[in-house]
Amino acid sequence: MRLEGVHHVTAITADAPRNVEFYAGLLGLRLVKKTVNQDDPTVYHLFYADEQGDPGSDITFFEYPGARQGRAGAGMVHTVRWRIASEDALDFWQKRLDNHVVSREAGRLTFVDPEGLRHELAVAETDDPPLIADHPEVPAELALQGFDGVRAFSADPGRSREFLEQTLDFDPREGGSWEARGEKRGGLYGYDPAPEGAGIGGAGTVHHVAWASPMEEHEAWRERVAAAGAQVTPIIDRFYFKSVYFREPSGVLFEIATIGPGFATDESLEHLGERLSLPPAFEHLRSQVEPILTPLPNPRETAAAR
Ligand code: ZN
Repeated sequence: MRLEGVHHVTAITADAPRNVEFYAGLLGLRLVKKTVNQDDPTVYHLFYADEQGDPGSDITFFEYPGARQGRAGAGMVHTVRWRIASEDALDFWQKRLDNHVVSREAGRLTFVDPEGLRHELAVAETDDPPLIADHPEVPAELALQGFDGVRAFSADPGRSREFLEQTLDFDPREGGSWEARGEKRGGLYGYDPAPEGAGIGGAGTVHHVAWASPMEEHEAWRERVAAAGAQVTPIIDRFYFKSVYFREPSGVLFEIATIGPGFATDESLEHLGERLSLPPAFEHLRSQVEPILTPLPNPRETAAAR
């Protein structure tokens, strides 16, 4: 029983329209689901991914309009790393991301989104299938290929080792990192020393990282995490996938989410993300929530019109 790399990464935005413009418009991901936060249905939950909405490529945002600016600290993910095909692709992104770029090294480009969330593009060293979205301004060979992994801050990474290796079956890798590698896909997890001062959850910070489990193994994962002494939630049906949540010993909020049923459950693959999707348990709220949600551009129409 192995986790199949990163399922999704969820972060916080204070400005959904600008978020759509950046992740779908500039970064070239596809807005695959426009729905609400199931724990607070008055705000958006936006999902960007590859063309099919595959786990492994899926970055999601809760919108809290006007949320304070956050800052990553101990027990929080600080960087999301994506795979890219080549140095040529890095050249393309360095130019396209322009003033969002923080630094460029061999094989790696670091940039921040408009709210300060940190990302890296790394030349892929893997045979995992690339997970890419179509975008009129981004040739397929240069596009983002899904997650390589995430890095978090920890005050004491040693205390997570046993849990990561024994309970979650992550394999140690060089540079103080681990890999969750399943049959189809892998994803990296690593730590950096925490900065001075506590982290602040808010705009531009990661809320949690989810690891991917085959549907039939999900319950066994929950039992395994519980047996290790972690406080784990019951299995929560998110409609597009099932989830359990817990904190790993360094304090980072982890989720284990199922591969499937997926985003094409309630709309066709061609029209993913165009309208507000509400799972059946939330559909009765549509007339109340639709008027209060910030109107969003359709990124595909915007791109076509440029
Ligand atoms: Zn999640």
